[in-house]
Amino acid sequence: MPAKKVPIYAGFDLGGTQLKYGAIDAEGRLVLKGKTPSPGSMKELLAALEKIWDRFKAEGPGPVESCGFGFAGFFSLKDQKVLSSPNYPCLNGFDLVPALQKFIDAPFRIDNDANMAAYGEYMYGAGRETQSLVLLTVGTGIGSGIILDGALWQGKCGFAGELGHITVNPEGERCKCGNRGCLETEVSATKIVKNYLALAGKREPVTSRDVFLRARKGDQAALESFARCAYYLGIGLGIVINFLNPEKILIGGGVVSAGKYLLGPAVEEARRRSHRVSFACCRIEKATMGNDAGLIGAAAWARAGIPGRT
Ligand SMILES: [Zn+2]
Repeated sequence: MPAKKVPIYAGFDLGGTQLKYGAIDAEGRLVLKGKTPSPGSMKELLAALEKIWDRFKAEGPGPVESCGFGFAGFFSLKDQKVLSSPNYPCLNGFDLVPALQKFIDAPFRIDNDANMAAYGEYMYGAGRETQSLVLLTVGTGIGSGIILDGALWQGKCGFAGELGHITVNPEGERCKCGNRGCLETEVSATKIVKNYLALAGKREPVTSRDVFLRARKGDQAALESFARCAYYLGIGLGIVINFLNPEKILIGGGVVSAGKYLLGPAVEEARRRSHRVSFACCRIEKATMGNDAGLIGAAAWARAGIPGRT
């Protein structure tokens, strides 16, 4: 008897620094997984995607039924293009669909990377068995996605869930998006370092982890740096709670590990700033899928259906 062929669903998660990819089976189990630094040009990106696609076909336990892509940036549902990608500019306006069709010989769909991560957490992570959630991923910037009534909320044109670019500090610094004082400019691994160097009056190469370790030792500038980020994160969380009354808000990303200095005070700030009854019924938790959320979400999103196909 030949081995039973298990259909699989492929997912790609392209961010500013890494291209992560994997495939799941019908139950959502990861059957293949890998990552590589994000290629520097469109030509290199397409070559990398083709190579990975060939690997899925060669090494997967069965045929690739469909494929999902989560790309960093503002992906237009109407144009099927990333209109603007501050962290991966070579995607800007590029006609992705025909380029991918040259080698992706299965139905595929594209969306924003943070939306795919939210969908992944909703399907298989800390968002399972919820009907509404907001995922905020805090890293070098902030990614976010929204699930409402059990469905990904994409918005009219595909641009929903850009919580990283809500204004939390009208006098804050300029954001890559052109606005000032966005949640993403006030709360990020980058901002933790910037705050620290400004407060300490230092000019040395430090990472957000270094600042975390110094905070643990009681360094006042490090503690104050986290407190400032927590304050603005709390404002953002308060807005989300009052606006959507979600069942859960999930926080992901590397800086979540600094819970005591960042997430804890941010939740307290959100409590002060949101309506008591809405805050009381919203659970704010850590996301559980880490770096796999985006690629698994993209694969599950493709498995859920391809627009235009029955
Ligand atoms: Zn912005």
